[in-house]
Amino acid sequence: MGRSIYHRLPPPLQWGVKRALALIPPAWRQRRLTRQVRTFLLASEFWPRETWRAYRDKKVRELVAYAYERVPYYREVWKAAGISPVDVDGVAALRRLPFIDNRILTAHALDLQARGVSPRHKIATQTGGTMGRPTRLLLHRRVSQDAELAFIQDLWRRVGYRAGARRIIIRVGGDPGTGTSKLYAFDPSNNTFFFRSYRLTDDKLALLIDLIRSFRPEYLHTYPSVATLLAQYVERHEPAGLPPLKAVLASSENSYPHQRELITRVLRTRFFTWYGHAEQAILAGECEHSSAYHIYPGYGVCELVDPAGRVVEQLGQPGELVGTGFYNPVMPIVRYRTGDFGTVTADECAACGRSYALLEHVVGHHTQELIVHREGHLSSVLGVLARGAYYHNVRQFQIHQKVPGELVFRIVKAERYGPEDEARFQVLIRERFGASMQLSFDYVNEIPPTAGGKWKYLIQEVDAGRTWAQPADQPAVRAEPEAGPLPAWPRQ
Ligand SMILES: [Zn+2]
Repeated sequence: MGRSIYHRLPPPLQWGVKRALALIPPAWRQRRLTRQVRTFLLASEFWPRETWRAYRDKKVRELVAYAYERVPYYREVWKAAGISPVDVDGVAALRRLPFIDNRILTAHALDLQARGVSPRHKIATQTGGTMGRPTRLLLHRRVSQDAELAFIQDLWRRVGYRAGARRIIIRVGGDPGTGTSKLYAFDPSNNTFFFRSYRLTDDKLALLIDLIRSFRPEYLHTYPSVATLLAQYVERHEPAGLPPLKAVLASSENSYPHQRELITRVLRTRFFTWYGHAEQAILAGECEHSSAYHIYPGYGVCELVDPAGRVVEQLGQPGELVGTGFYNPVMPIVRYRTGDFGTVTADECAACGRSYALLEHVVGHHTQELIVHREGHLSSVLGVLARGAYYHNVRQFQIHQKVPGELVFRIVKAERYGPEDEARFQVLIRERFGASMQLSFDYVNEIPPTAGGKWKYLIQEVDAGRTWAQPADQPAVRAEPEAGPLPAWPRQ
């Protein structure tokens, strides 16, 4: 049935528009800022450390001056601490500024917005949040999104990616343009298939294999856990005629050495991962030769801090990742405690020659695991967590699973939490995991971190045997950035 599925696909509503767009070469369709940042990234890729230092110091000065001038929260807090923008003359002086975190983003959502930015430039996004508190934050429709695209494409270039390459995106939602009800949808303008990753039964994995055979993607873009499920399926069933892949692009959760080994061996391709987050303050990815995360120096500043909030200077010492982003003029992110932990192991990569710091052993709230259905198949927990709107009345949140097909939501209520919230969660679980998944609630006063000080969204106690990708003790990697002829931040 190989080729047939591809040709039987229902045309999405926007088919005509997307088809027309598809006639224009992808590079021409990119926005000006994306092209500018890409050009900058190419030019700066092998800058020596000194050049980066001067560049980053300048970016920090501009950012701090902008935040002080435009953002009431920063001005007030920094003034109270006796700090003026001239005190922060570069990256090293950032540590004089207080941290912000997920709680502050929520509590001061209005005062953290820069004054004078047109509402049409603001776009809301959702973070996974730290300590079980999802957060809404605002990005700049052009600056944040267009620059992000340039950075991600620059990152993927290390595994041969070019704009418009054939991709299958396997993720919790479907194609945003066509709704999320279909199992898969094609976007011809980006040469991309979207395939939903809910309830990945063997039947659905067989369909996915079929799609891979007929569409012949160069890249699969998904979560490490889903790529692992696919590789396990391929190992069990050994489907014939799988086309060669250039890479599996994987993010949004930790990856583990056993996953890398399995995916590389079974799918016979590069397993390429990176660390990033919705707050867009730190971005770091693998290179051509190494799986350590190269922190993009042009994207923002990545600091590591110890439990007392002191900056960790020594290579090889772990710390919490604190990010300062260069590309969000709507809600500037200055010294944001991510709730993720990692270790900077080197200040440059000997394998590729980039003078980007290397980040490894990242763990934290981006750790994402799998939920076990009664019948034994698995779903990504992201299916629940990606719906931040459900969590407005929740202070802290954690999922516990002891029995296949049964979930317990452990919740610290916020003031307005009521029966309707419980009902909403029931609907969400039914939608995401089907009627057979049972949900109960456990209301508590506090949800402490695990012994290592780490936060986990999912406490998984089910051993689902062969299909359950038991995480090894070794966590994955992630990294940081900076800029050149960057566009001026909007001053309207
Ligand atoms: Zn490298």
